[in-house]
Amino acid sequence: MLSVIVPVFNEEKNIHPFLDRLLPAIAPYSYEIIFVNDGSYDQTALTVKKVALKNKNIKLVSFYRNFGHQMALTAGYEHAKGDCIITIDADLQDPPEIIPKMVEKWEKGSKVIYARREKRDVDSFFKKMTASLFYRLINFLSDSPIPQEVGDFRLLDREVVDFLNKLPERSRFLRGLVAWGGYPADYIYFVREKRFAGTTHYTFSKMLNFALEGITTFSTKPLRLASYLGFCAATIGFLGVLYAILGKIFLPSYWVTGWTGLFVGIMFLGGVQLITIGIIGEYISKIYVEVQRRPQYLVQEKINL
Ligand code: UDP
Ligand code: MG
Repeated sequence: MLSVIVPVFNEEKNIHPFLDRLLPAIAPYSYEIIFVNDGSYDQTALTVKKVALKNKNIKLVSFYRNFGHQMALTAGYEHAKGDCIITIDADLQDPPEIIPKMVEKWEKGSKVIYARREKRDVDSFFKKMTASLFYRLINFLSDSPIPQEVGDFRLLDREVVDFLNKLPERSRFLRGLVAWGGYPADYIYFVREKRFAGTTHYTFSKMLNFALEGITTFSTKPLRLASYLGFCAATIGFLGVLYAILGKIFLPSYWVTGWTGLFVGIMFLGGVQLITIGIIGEYISKIYVEVQRRPQYLVQEKINL
């Protein structure tokens, strides 16, 4: 059986066009489609419920509020029953027509099939640039590299989903977690299409938070960087002291006591200290969230599940 997980947040206009393309693509398989309604405040839940009444294979998990894309996917994984599990966006940016090709590769033995964006002309220059910067940074920092040009459109084997479901941690940077497992992976290439209706939900600040989440959950190198930064600053400070003492002793007549050096020194040290405190704070906040052990999301209702 094939499970298709679709996170939806205010996608009322996309549900029907999406199903019109998805259903023919997966008709040959026995399937379930799990819509995870991530706290939409439009008619998304109602629209899904109406189709779920007619087709028992279409299921719905509804959250009380918006818990975020990664949590919606997590809930989907926890409810999916299939032998292979696909996650796909509802806005038709990920073409459902390539699903059979993904299943074919899975049947050949790969545990993870990524759909890789061959062309991404529809995304803005800014999005492409920040994405590539982010992946280069995270792959530099992290020990388990994350494949580039790959989003959350992927097929996972049951075994991988069981692994994800068993993970005790609260924070869910799924791309990283899947890559961390090191399961044999394969790729299918596709051309990213335009969003069918509505606008993206990933604002700049959400992307930034997503990037920070990814970095802090997969690497502690920034903490080491903080130590290096402190060490460099201390060395420069020490050299400055030597310079001042030697200048005072050997060139007393040239030595002018100014405030520029002082000012620059204070600004520099202040900056270094704030950055390092910020980095440490990021990790403390991670620890805080983990020890709180709150549920990751709250389910309001389930249909056909
Ligand atoms: N989404 C979600 N919760 C959110 C943001 C987005 O469930 O808080 C869903 C959204 O409905 C869509 C998918 O995640 O199906 C991808 O979101 P979007 O298209 O806005 O992101 P983009 O494709 O621009 O990166
Ligand atoms: Mg999209």
